[in-house]
Amino acid sequence: MIVVNSVSGLRGKLDTLKPSLLGFVPTMGALHEGHISLAARAKKDCPVMVVSIYVNPTQFNDKEDLKNYPRTIQSDIRLLKKHLRKNDIVFIPDDREIYPEPGTRKFSFGSLDRVMEALHRPGHFNGVAQVVSRLFEIVKPDIAYFGLKDFQQVAVIKSLVRQLSMKVRIEACPIIRESDGLAMSSRNRLLEPDIRRRAPVIRRTLIKAAEMINTKDIGGIRDYVKKTIELEKDFEVEYFEIADDEKLIPVSDRSEMKRDKRYYGCIAVRAGRIRLIDNIEITLA
Ligand code: AMP
Repeated sequence: MIVVNSVSGLRGKLDTLKPSLLGFVPTMGALHEGHISLAARAKKDCPVMVVSIYVNPTQFNDKEDLKNYPRTIQSDIRLLKKHLRKNDIVFIPDDREIYPEPGTRKFSFGSLDRVMEALHRPGHFNGVAQVVSRLFEIVKPDIAYFGLKDFQQVAVIKSLVRQLSMKVRIEACPIIRESDGLAMSSRNRLLEPDIRRRAPVIRRTLIKAAEMINTKDIGGIRDYVKKTIELEKDFEVEYFEIADDEKLIPVSDRSEMKRDKRYYGCIAVRAGRIRLIDNIEITLA
């Protein structure tokens, strides 16, 4: 495994290696099995991959969140060493490498800009699009791997690639969970022990909500999700929506759901000081 910190170092290595197919896994570090699952997919598909570790300031709408975001570079490198091959590259740039000029690119994602994460984290997806478009220009991957944990982000990235006519294939990979059902996330390590212990209520409630789709109306399901999770002290539901996986337009009645589309129940919860997101596929019987 090769570690590089600069764009020129990365390009130099890639120009020598000239892989027939290049995989790319962008991350913000504090790596866990969710990230490793993306690298494992890249390893299967591509003879060489780049894993980037960069905490992108432009996607944080909350300064405290940026300040507190876990940074564990040494253990990240140790973990990656166990999973990456000789010619795989870990790219750990600093702000000057990614933004030699301040990030000013403005993107528009239509309906994706008006729902769920976009509503609750203003500017977040513009920041994501700034860093991902920049990373795609630097790395020039053939296939890039993203986790469905960040469900709306996958739709945004697909839209970004279409808008910029980029030649990269986007692969969406399943959510990896802790044994108690909590979706793995770098932020989980920031949860206070008592909150961490109770956090699986999110997954449990989503499973119940998915089962209820055939017997209850959507308003009733939303009430159930909010009430059940908020029974836990210090848990607050920011939103719960059932939306399709392309335009992500939330449905308010089951009759709006079309059989040829896929739907997901998407949730954001404030658990103490930490914001957690998760989702579940919802299928009509
Ligand atoms: P992050 O470091 O949180 O920006 O995440 C980097 C990539 O890993 C994103 O594509 C995430 O969707 C993905 N990811 C994060 N957590 C998980 C998980 N539990 N399962 C699968 N992919 C994940």
